[in-house]
Amino acid sequence: MNLRCTLCNRTYPLDTRRWRCECGGAFDVAGLPGFDPATVDSSAPGLWRYRATLPLPENATPVTLGEVTTPLVEAELDGLRFHCKVEYLSPTGSFKDRGTAVLVSVLRALGVQKVAEDSSGNAGASLAAYTARAGIACTVFVPAHASPAKQAQIAAFGAQLVRVPGPRENAARAVQEAAAEGAYYASHYYNPLGLAGLRTIAYELWEQLGRRVPDNVVLPAGHGTLLLGIYRGFRDLKQAGLITRLPRLFAVQAQPCAPLHAAFIQGNAEPIIVEEGATVAEGVRIARPLRGQEILAAVRETGGQVLAVPDEETLAGRDALAQRGLYVEPTSAVAIAALAHLRPVIGADEITVVPLTGSGFKSPLHQPRFQEVVRDFVRQHGLLHTPETHALDLVSEVGEVAKEVLKSTDYGQRPFAPTPELADELGDALYVLAALADSCGVDLEQSLEGVLHKYAARLESTGHAGSD
Ligand SMILES: [Zn+2]
Repeated sequence: MNLRCTLCNRTYPLDTRRWRCECGGAFDVAGLPGFDPATVDSSAPGLWRYRATLPLPENATPVTLGEVTTPLVEAELDGLRFHCKVEYLSPTGSFKDRGTAVLVSVLRALGVQKVAEDSSGNAGASLAAYTARAGIACTVFVPAHASPAKQAQIAAFGAQLVRVPGPRENAARAVQEAAAEGAYYASHYYNPLGLAGLRTIAYELWEQLGRRVPDNVVLPAGHGTLLLGIYRGFRDLKQAGLITRLPRLFAVQAQPCAPLHAAFIQGNAEPIIVEEGATVAEGVRIARPLRGQEILAAVRETGGQVLAVPDEETLAGRDALAQRGLYVEPTSAVAIAALAHLRPVIGADEITVVPLTGSGFKSPLHQPRFQEVVRDFVRQHGLLHTPETHALDLVSEVGEVAKEVLKSTDYGQRPFAPTPELADELGDALYVLAALADSCGVDLEQSLEGVLHKYAARLESTGHAGSD
């Protein structure tokens, strides 16, 4: 087994510290074993059942946190029946553990001592946990807008958490700089060792469905590693002569950031570069999917589609699923939201699988709901038609509140202790600010970071935060 460039076919040894080819191409594992039912180890838990298919050196001991064969739970939504593959029951609450368990096991066997990764949260939390288990130092670069619950999880495992302001891509740039300084870049999308572990979802599904292939798999896609893992897993089964066709793959993106969808509807082979729009589905907020060409080809080969759903439908999908006892984060719910659009193409007797990728415990508790309420209110009352009107209203409102605050402190002579009425007004102003920022696609956390950086710089140069 070695690593092979997907662009120029040049090969590198498995223990290379390079994270991509000299030509810039991403690696795949060459010589990866396929699936053979005779090699399935029924006594091993979770994905280790399929160890013979994984790129582990023979003498390597797996780094494990108690991976399980994730259950298939039946559900029904508006008359459409489907199977949920409950991946959020993995050790750190997301499907990423399948890839990370394999990747970190290989890295420990290779003697790697220090890794870095960029992630919107789940891959980072997974890597932080498995490296903690393996005694490998870990740094995770997350976009500052990543869910606080995921950031807390990463830090709890003892990884160094670096919050990077700005779009997701800034975190990617930051980790590449760290890699240039000697850390092993344990990327969940560049590194193909983890990707090899994701094929085990397909093997499990085949076994759980009574050695049958499902008709449809509907799943969230950002960098699309889950889709590629499942595609390659079923391709292994087909090559082994165990199934005769592949399931149709339906990749679902969030409308505010949907480069694969744009390419699919325009018939492009490559993803179309888009602006990275803010979305509640933070895990698929990826403007340049690394292996986009392969994803689009896989979707087309299987007769599937790429869809994009608006955040409102995603949140409604999450709620509908929760009302059936299954609690997922919004990123997972894009696939649930897509089911309504797929009803015309999914037959009543077909087997449809939706992997539930991440736990609801990882999502911000109030913010999406809060924004939803604001949006509904604004829509219902025809308020604040344009961002310009929003801004003007807000400026005058903040001016009024500021006057009240000044008066209540006797123009700075007394400490600020707002009356309930003033606190209400202040709350209203913040509410409008949040709605305005949201409608303009402004990242509030990022803006806040920017302001704090500015003040910190001023403190350093002048010793006080005020103007000179
Ligand atoms: Zn190359």
